[in-house]
Amino acid sequence: MLENKELVLATNNQHKIEEISRLFSGFKITTPSNLGIEFEYEEKGESFLDNALAKAMSLFQSIRKPVLADDSGLVVFALNGEPGIYSSRYGSKEKGRKLSDRERIDFLLARMAGHDDRRCFFVCCIALVVEENRFFISHETVNGLLSRYPAGTGGFGYDPVFYIPELKKTAAQLSDKEKDRISHRGRASRCIMSLISKI
Ligand code: IMP
Repeated sequence: MLENKELVLATNNQHKIEEISRLFSGFKITTPSNLGIEFEYEEKGESFLDNALAKAMSLFQSIRKPVLADDSGLVVFALNGEPGIYSSRYGSKEKGRKLSDRERIDFLLARMAGHDDRRCFFVCCIALVVEENRFFISHETVNGLLSRYPAGTGGFGYDPVFYIPELKKTAAQLSDKEKDRISHRGRASRCIMSLISKI
């Protein structure tokens, strides 16, 4: 099933494409747009798991090739889990339009004003669908503290405010290699890679 070492990643997010391509070394990661397919998936699930699996299944139904999907986001304790599964849409309802990464960070920092509990974690759920009834899931996390100001220029999304105490850096201050080693996506990807060698 995976002899040709090709996986189609169900996303249009360029940052995820770059990270997953690095993490699944030895595999050719293609995207719906590489295949000339328009893929827009409206997330309706109530968890990262629901969304990752439904996204992967939806693309699999139309291409019938092995598909990977990543659903991920930031969970902040003091905000009862916000932005969570709404990480990419955070603040859109309040502001009436989709926000940029930087605007979402500002929105989050404003919501955190007055909160001293800065604990948070990233979640990454990766679903690999190889056949209609054969799929594999990894759900991983990385813990951090929400910093008060953005720092660093690497990564994407909330990386500039995700501070990792052990490394004394935000995720946006890490090299690609460092981020891959500790990140939620790095952990989930390595787990799926180890499963692939057994299926
Ligand atoms: P979705 O999985 O496409 O629904 O969106 C995930 C959203 O979570 C991204 O748009 C980012 O805002 C955030 N996110 C997920 N992973 C990361 C990461 O590795 N760094 C920073 N932000 C992330």
